[in-house]
Amino acid sequence: MSVDLTSNSAFQFPFPNDSKQANMKLSSRVLPAVTRSSHKRTLVLDLDETLVHSTQQLIENPDNIVTLSNGNNTRTLYVKYRPGLMEFLRKVLKFFEVVVYTASAKEYAEQVINKLDPQRKMLKYRLYRDDCMQIGGHFVKDLSRLGRDLSQVIILDNSITSFAHHLDNGIPILSWFDDPNDSELWKVTNLLEQLINTQDVRPILNSIFNLPKIVQDYQQKCLV
Ligand SMILES: [Mg+2]
Repeated sequence: MSVDLTSNSAFQFPFPNDSKQANMKLSSRVLPAVTRSSHKRTLVLDLDETLVHSTQQLIENPDNIVTLSNGNNTRTLYVKYRPGLMEFLRKVLKFFEVVVYTASAKEYAEQVINKLDPQRKMLKYRLYRDDCMQIGGHFVKDLSRLGRDLSQVIILDNSITSFAHHLDNGIPILSWFDDPNDSELWKVTNLLEQLINTQDVRPILNSIFNLPKIVQDYQQKCLV
């Protein structure tokens, strides 16, 4: 787990005070109300390059094939699952309410998730690009829309701009493309196990990743 800001320009980083420019027409709560049987903690999972990677290039043994059509145009995408994905999902579902929140278009992402979880047993809650705020060319995931206590919400994402308004809720994960020896999901599982009984995940994630400071320093460096 590490932070890569090289692909983000500080001038483009969607800081919280940029939210005035955001498309704020999003409806408020998107998850059902908490019940007695609900898990107390919510784990928000990004999709592309966090859990899976999709490519138009034909690959050996794809885990999933998605077809997108746009008028007469049909595109086929070959999807590979990050090593350890199914085990990771089985483990986290014991302790977390799990939500997939992707900045990808619903037409694509829904197919990937449906094939990953055809019976909708693991990934019941799904949010797509239209559920993101659009700020300065970025799609920013708005965790406040979940209607959950943010002290108990964790987002796992390979792009920190995606959770720029909730940096203290985030676990940044290295982007995954095709490395069969990748072990990031096992590392994340270990970290999540340590967070299961905490009162508030934010100070702990801040002390581990220090993302607000990293972003601030990066912005200052770019301004020099
Ligand atoms: Mg991603």
